[in-house]
Amino acid sequence: MPAEGIIHVLPDVLANKIAAGEVVQRPASVVKELMENAVDAGASSIQVYIKKAGSTLIQVVDDGCGMGPEDAAACFGRHATSKLRSMDDLEHLATLGFRGEALASVSAVAQVELKTRRVQDDAGSMVKMAGGELVEQRPCSTPAGTSVAVRNLFYNVPARRNFLKAPSTEFKHIVETFQALALANPTMAFALVHDEMDVYRLNAPEADVPFDDALLQRVHALFAGRSPDALVRVEEATSYLSIRGFVGTPETARKSRGDQFLFVNGRHVKSRSLNHAVISSFGQLIPQGAYPFFALFLTLDPSHVDVNVHPQKTEVKFDDERGVYGFIKAVVKRGLATAGLALAVDPTLSPSITIPAAEGVVVEPAFRSSDPFSRPTSPPTRSFAAPDGDGGGRPRGPEILGSETLDPRTFNIASFPSTTISQDGTLRLPSRVEPQVDGADADPEIQGSSRPIWQLHERYLLTPIRFGLMVLDQQAAHERILYEQAVTAMDGGMAASQQLLFPRTIDFDPAEFALLEELLPDLRLLGFDLELFSGRSVLVRGVPSDVHLGSEHVILEEILDQYRSNLDGLQLEARENLARSMARRSAIRPGRILKPEEARALIDQLFACRMPYADPIGRPTMIKMSMEELAKRFGRNPSS
Ligand code: ADP
Ligand code: MG
Repeated sequence: MPAEGIIHVLPDVLANKIAAGEVVQRPASVVKELMENAVDAGASSIQVYIKKAGSTLIQVVDDGCGMGPEDAAACFGRHATSKLRSMDDLEHLATLGFRGEALASVSAVAQVELKTRRVQDDAGSMVKMAGGELVEQRPCSTPAGTSVAVRNLFYNVPARRNFLKAPSTEFKHIVETFQALALANPTMAFALVHDEMDVYRLNAPEADVPFDDALLQRVHALFAGRSPDALVRVEEATSYLSIRGFVGTPETARKSRGDQFLFVNGRHVKSRSLNHAVISSFGQLIPQGAYPFFALFLTLDPSHVDVNVHPQKTEVKFDDERGVYGFIKAVVKRGLATAGLALAVDPTLSPSITIPAAEGVVVEPAFRSSDPFSRPTSPPTRSFAAPDGDGGGRPRGPEILGSETLDPRTFNIASFPSTTISQDGTLRLPSRVEPQVDGADADPEIQGSSRPIWQLHERYLLTPIRFGLMVLDQQAAHERILYEQAVTAMDGGMAASQQLLFPRTIDFDPAEFALLEELLPDLRLLGFDLELFSGRSVLVRGVPSDVHLGSEHVILEEILDQYRSNLDGLQLEARENLARSMARRSAIRPGRILKPEEARALIDQLFACRMPYADPIGRPTMIKMSMEELAKRFGRNPSS
């Protein structure tokens, strides 16, 4: 039997010290709590002064509402909060803090000096705390607002002080915390000063700048490389949930995590699952293991979200977690698809920009172009020869390579009907701006026949865009186009087929034959009309309309080969594999000189793709170089 009186209320000082372990894990936690308090206090400007990565000083100065003399002392009490009076309040919380724990916890493990004054008061108040005990309190003169200086964090808990990571690591956490709050409040001014050096000075935008523009400016100010042309706007609202913000373009994704910011009702939160939703919406646009930038703001009725599950209030729970996941994924996907056009070659660009014709660069002036969507019924007006053995093509028996049109392994770039967008079963949200894939807008005559395109070393296409220069990899681009066409065809059974006048019989080895059998339904959707006979013979009656007659066996074999080598290495669904194989097999390779109208059609069709930025296995199809970057490389001031 335990002796009576063993359970007793912990003295406040001890309780705070224990709680401090939860709330204050490292200097960045203090920065977060103090900055949040400043935001809650309605500040319009917040300055953060750090010394020695926060181990000697963390000071946050704001011009918010300030506190009267009573509150100045009371705010250090445990569960002292002005923000929460009942459980009901908890459901409708609009402030960042509400537990009333932060100042109590911080002051338990550091020396804290608070100076604060309300506008209406003549005198301000100064309160000094150390190790959770009041050291001094007196009136003082101080500007309206609040300054909290936290010195020698963990001075009285040496174990924890020793636990701190290298200053560079701790400071990195501080910077991230600062960035999150500065992003969440793009209309407020912020400064971060470390060891007397300015790290950030972020001005408030003009009074009536819309939130999105303020956010855009803020992102750019915080992350040097994240200029507006490297960002994609994301926006959607339903009665349950709304989302807005920006994601980085695929080519600006980084190999390391970081620069991913999610806000729920203005609060920076971390959620593995929602991060995953965003990243997965990029799909193959970014390579595996790359992380896109994002700053996304979710807004929903606070009663649907629980932010109270973690003392640091960074984890969230939604009552419809899966719904939120799906919503984010779909909205970001659509933003990216839409941006495919927004970032496309700029039709208004004047052709006056000149790039000296270096060796190996084919300079093409403005030219007329033929219809990029030639109908399968007419003989292909232009076609892209497939590889002659290099660039990943497997060596195959003697090649019959005469004139282009005789090349047996030739695919017309504009073969399958390009109805890719609406076929995307994964994106069901109504689209405000759907990328147009046909009609006048995709017609190069109208869209930008004056846009210059240069081919570089028979491998890359160069063309000016609004913000600078775009370089496309012709093979990757073509693979993306063919891949989406194949997927579309298999989803919708849309591919046109041409019947052979004289059906041919082709013999396959047993393994290939078995594969063919398995893939038969999808091959049919792609436009192959095949009949399998016992053993290993296949009767080919028809082929996709852009396969040159006479080459059907080569194409079938190559698709199967590619398919099998994909099977070895990658775990792909049959259709995905088939689409990739088809694209791989048929895409133009380096070494192919593109006629001007071919280059133009390639670019137009690429940007009509659902995901123009990467080839089917996630390598980029294009890179962009902004004028800013060019200026930087030339050692010029970007703004001049
Ligand atoms: P919480 O933010 O959860 O309410 P804190 O311990 O962070 O708890 O703060 C306690 C109280 O102190 C707040 O509710 C607020 O009334 C007051 N306070 C703290 N920081 C400031 C500030 N910068 N300006 C005005 N009031 C503040
Ligand atoms: Mg607080």
